[in-house]
Amino acid sequence: MAKLLEYNATLVAREDLEPTLAIFRLEPDDKTRPEGPWFVPGQYMTIGMNREVKEGEDDPRPHSVRRPMSIASAPEDRDNVEFYIRKVGTPESDLPLTHVMWDIKVGDRMFCRPVPVGHFTIPGTVGDDDKRLKLCVAAGTGMAPFISIARSRVRRDPKARLDDIAIVHGASYPSSLGYREECEALAKTNGLRYLPAVSRPGADWKGWKGRAESIVEAARLAEFEEAIGLKEGELVPQNVAVLICGLQGTIANTIIGLLGRGFVPDNKKLRRALEVDEALPATVFWEQYDNTPVIDVKNAELVADLRRQLHGALAK
Ligand SMILES: Cc1cc2nc3c(=O)[nH]c(=O)nc-3n(C[C@H](O)[C@H](O)[C@H](O)COP(=O)(O)OP(=O)(O)OC[C@H]3O[C@@H](n4cnc5c(N)ncnc54)[C@H](O)[C@@H]3O)c2cc1C
Repeated sequence: MAKLLEYNATLVAREDLEPTLAIFRLEPDDKTRPEGPWFVPGQYMTIGMNREVKEGEDDPRPHSVRRPMSIASAPEDRDNVEFYIRKVGTPESDLPLTHVMWDIKVGDRMFCRPVPVGHFTIPGTVGDDDKRLKLCVAAGTGMAPFISIARSRVRRDPKARLDDIAIVHGASYPSSLGYREECEALAKTNGLRYLPAVSRPGADWKGWKGRAESIVEAARLAEFEEAIGLKEGELVPQNVAVLICGLQGTIANTIIGLLGRGFVPDNKKLRRALEVDEALPATVFWEQYDNTPVIDVKNAELVADLRRQLHGALAK
């Protein structure tokens, strides 16, 4: 029998926002942590579960599953970690973690590798000293790294200013906007620029309509700049660095929309295809939750068009 995961964490809180969207708080058994912050906001951990295995079963599915999940809590929370998770509608694997996980309740056990990993952090992308506005574009659960970044700063200093962070959170419905109240409060008290975007709004939705990436549609860019307190034309790499998190569609469309403003992607293959000078620093970074190539660099027509847009902007 394939090795089962040894459970080493307890689910201590669970908040269901929708039938397939929830916030899970896990407490790892091992409480030994390095001194100071024990992860960098934006990093992820691997969590996992076993499925029930019956003696003598003839079930070809794997016995356990692990997946990376961005940490939504701040490192200042030393006892537990929070994850913001969507139960996927069309899984690709034989044993989708989110389906196994959906049945667990507070007090249940699971696996969590309490070793934070990843470079999708402020120091790992633009650097801690970068004074520009950090435009954080989140699709759905892609909100997790950004709420961790904002929370951590405020946990260290409740009066910390968040004016240099703009979070755009795209979701299908207002009810799918996890962390909305918290972000609205942070906007009032700490200056966070927060723009929830809803793609299937009801008549009572007065906010931004459309998917997260609609902010960079040519016809809406000026409206978006105004919405986050920029003047028309200020959304350029001299003033702004962009971080995107979520699935391929949002990432690709946001990058494409920004090329015409001179934003340089942080990806070797794409930079090579777009013929970007190696010395030019990246100004758009991303963390992708699915496996579809962000931009098909073999699509010569598309790449030629994108190259034209980027070089046109860089030449200005
Ligand atoms: C660095 C990293 C961090 C991640 N952080 C998170 C997180 O904070 N929250 C989270 O929900 N997922 C996150 N994911 C995705 C997660 O690891 C799993 O891929 C996802 O939960 C599906 O796993 P599964 O075993 O249930 O389904 P699988 O059988 O593995 O199905 C994979 C399919 O699920 C789709 N999918 C993956 N993630 C999502 C999602 N978030 N929303 C909708 N569809 C999705 C993909 O399109 C893919 O086709 C992250 C992935 C990476 C690489």
